Amino acid sequence: MTNYHLSPSRFREEGKKIIDWIADYYEHIEKYPVLSQVEPGSIQAALPIAPPQKGESFDSMLNDLNEIILPGITHWQSPNFFAYFPSNASFPSILGDLVSSGLGVQGMIWATSPAATELETRMLDWLVEMMDMPEKFKSTSTGGGVIQDTASTSALTALIAARERATKFESNKSGVRQKLVAYISTQTHSSLEKAVKIAGIGSENLRLIEVDELFAMKPELLERQIQMDRNDGFLPFFVCATIGTTSSNAMDPVREIGEICRRENCWLHVDAAMAGTAMLCPEFRYLKDGVELADSYTFNPHKWMFTNFDCDVFWVANRKELIHTFSILPEYLRNKASETGEVFDYRDWHIQLGRRFRSLKLWFVIRHYGVEGLQFHVRKHVQIAQNFAQWVKHDADFELVLNPPLNLVCFRHKSNNDFNMRLMHAVHNSGKAFFTHTKLNNQVVLRLCVAQTHTEEDHVEKTWKLIQQTAQNLKNQDRPEKLS
Ligand SMILES: *Cc1c(COP(=O)(O)O)cnc(C)c1O
Repeated sequence: MTNYHLSPSRFREEGKKIIDWIADYYEHIEKYPVLSQVEPGSIQAALPIAPPQKGESFDSMLNDLNEIILPGITHWQSPNFFAYFPSNASFPSILGDLVSSGLGVQGMIWATSPAATELETRMLDWLVEMMDMPEKFKSTSTGGGVIQDTASTSALTALIAARERATKFESNKSGVRQKLVAYISTQTHSSLEKAVKIAGIGSENLRLIEVDELFAMKPELLERQIQMDRNDGFLPFFVCATIGTTSSNAMDPVREIGEICRRENCWLHVDAAMAGTAMLCPEFRYLKDGVELADSYTFNPHKWMFTNFDCDVFWVANRKELIHTFSILPEYLRNKASETGEVFDYRDWHIQLGRRFRSLKLWFVIRHYGVEGLQFHVRKHVQIAQNFAQWVKHDADFELVLNPPLNLVCFRHKSNNDFNMRLMHAVHNSGKAFFTHTKLNNQVVLRLCVAQTHTEEDHVEKTWKLIQQTAQNLKNQDRPEKLS
């Protein structure tokens, strides 16, 4: 019987070539410019306008991967990638993800693959232990964890659950919805503002609380704003505190904010998207002080914990509120296991129905590295970043903008904003390293985040020399020619 499918034996053959291709990519990754240098539209220009009528060979696909796609890649997995926050990866994670693709299961409810649900539950319970998080985040207690696609989705999920709790799960009826007010700081991630829009709270009901000189939310201003809003007839219901803001890795005072939330009956969501991974190491856990006051907490193993995108951990203190918010039961999903209440149906823990088997890659990562291995690499990243901060401090032309709490260093050349932008772009154009910028108090600040899986001190040292040399060259260019 003829068909067009790839046979298992051909899959074996082609699959091995692809694994080799990925291994080669990692072995030679440093030869590519870290930031893709292509012009807009150039990848499209190299792709055929029309799809193929007849199937093509894997060899021709691999060839085009090299010729067309690779030049359009910004190499997030390069050890010289220091931009934004990372999205690191590892071979165990890639293999776990491959198995997930291979199984191709839909883990929307327990019955559609019990292992998909139960492995996920156990992994997120493991992480509670590994990070010394509050016991109530465990599935064996009142809470539990679920893997979401992104921290943005976790924020939205938390916000909607908070809205439902505040309106006694009748937000569509009660008319109080217009009165709900949410609180973040001026440094909180943009995903919260987006969540407020999507959840129907409205941007006008989002309060941006000012920050202190370390860019952390000022709790006394939060409290004052809540009082003012109450006096004006609003209903404060949600606060987001951040452990490690995206701009400068600022640490909000979770305990003080949490105590205000308790008093004011507000849902506390803690966003630790990148910095959360540091909680693997006991010496960094002071940064999560007060987290037992949180109603929900999120961090991204897909940022710093060697787990391929996407993998976001979302814990809640009280799963009943979450499930009450998101559960809807159509007839075609009714089944015995769900009805006994003995199992988790993760579709009731988030927005979408269908879900991938993402805990497999987490399982592979945790088992390959062990807690010790993960701690080792996180500590190494932090140490390298701290060393970099010292080098910056000791160069008279540069300044350290903040003492880095972890692995993100905010620094700048002492000349003006324009010079710093030119310096950054010159390094980008060299292709040798990639870091990005932010603005703090209207000053351009350069950000170097050490969190790529394969970054060693040597990479950062070379990058620092490149930055120094590039700054020197720019200064020389700017100097008016001496008349002789
Ligand atoms: C990166 C980041 C996010 C968004 O992460 P996604 O998983 O891409 O949605 C949210 N909050 C903070 C603090 C971040 O750094």
